[in-house]
Amino acid sequence: MKANRRNFVKTLGTASIATVLPKLSFSNSPGLVSPGSGKLKLTFWPYDLQLKHTFTVAEFSRDTTPVMLCKLEYEGFTGYGEASMPPYLGESQKSVAGFLNNVDMGQFNDPFRMDEILEYVETVDHKNRAAKACVDIALHDLVGKMLNQPLYKLWGLSPKNTPNTSFTIGIDEPELVREKTIEAIEAPEKLKVLKVKLGRGNDKEMINTVRSITDLPLYVDVNQGWNDKDKALEMINWLKEQGIIFVEQPLPKEQIDDMAWLTEKSPLPTIADEAFQRLSDVARFKGVYSGINIKLMKSTGLREAHKMITVARALDMNVMIGCMTETSCAVSAAAQLSPLADWADLDGNLLISNDVYEGVKVVDGKVTLNDLPGIGILKLN
Ligand code: MG
Repeated sequence: MKANRRNFVKTLGTASIATVLPKLSFSNSPGLVSPGSGKLKLTFWPYDLQLKHTFTVAEFSRDTTPVMLCKLEYEGFTGYGEASMPPYLGESQKSVAGFLNNVDMGQFNDPFRMDEILEYVETVDHKNRAAKACVDIALHDLVGKMLNQPLYKLWGLSPKNTPNTSFTIGIDEPELVREKTIEAIEAPEKLKVLKVKLGRGNDKEMINTVRSITDLPLYVDVNQGWNDKDKALEMINWLKEQGIIFVEQPLPKEQIDDMAWLTEKSPLPTIADEAFQRLSDVARFKGVYSGINIKLMKSTGLREAHKMITVARALDMNVMIGCMTETSCAVSAAAQLSPLADWADLDGNLLISNDVYEGVKVVDGKVTLNDLPGIGILKLN
């Protein structure tokens, strides 16, 4: 028995080495690429995402989202990036183009020096978080492609640990909410959790309508739509009985003391979204919210998002990975970090009808990483 096991291990060991060795022995293998004399070249172009449904949350409605797509080239390799600019974030295609025009990537000839490069990008302007994310995502994609590995592997993460992703149901009349809920639960992605937007005065009607269709677990996002902490607590107690998992941004971001009071009394975790932007916010929100919603367009990309998760875990806070309306480029980039998150809301690419990349998929409701290098996307067309 022992001998058999030893033989098996020996065979397995040989097989593993055999599959690895040929890759390493070719001198032109992507795994052995070292920086040469080339320079990084950044190109970008605007694109308008068409939404499948008019998107309504507590503050506004819209049918399109402007984005900026970019590519970063280096010695035959191309990394892709994206900035998404929902209007309420204060960035536009014009402001992102203005920022990217001022980014001089040609001064760098070693893409592996990511710290140095991204610290430089941070100094170009103190604003423009989405524009910075565009460069950060493209640089991560480029480096992953040069090493011929997906980012989650470079970070040592298991693809088995990805969470289910929610799909968002916006605020609408009951008949339309019913239709959207049916469409969501019948979607080929076989979603296991939905996110319901609240905060426009018809909260119980929204939940009751979704509940008339499905018993799936629900996340709730109020988008700062409540402002009375006592009423908020009352509503959260009711939501707890309706099978809700957590409540995102229940109060306006400025109401920090009320939020700390609410989090202490709330039977459900509270998650900061609009209130939460950069790395330095994480420690500030310990005791104010139970957790944070990390989005690459707020965090300036993957590098800072990864640090946010480390800090949040050290403070025993929940971590959610979210997105804006985005193509599969930025969504697939965020998905690379998702094995580290408790919850994911990575449906941005499922909400649009004109994606330009094929990337990370949702299979049986779960974020499902692939083996493609970098952020895991292929350009369509
Ligand atoms: Mg939100």
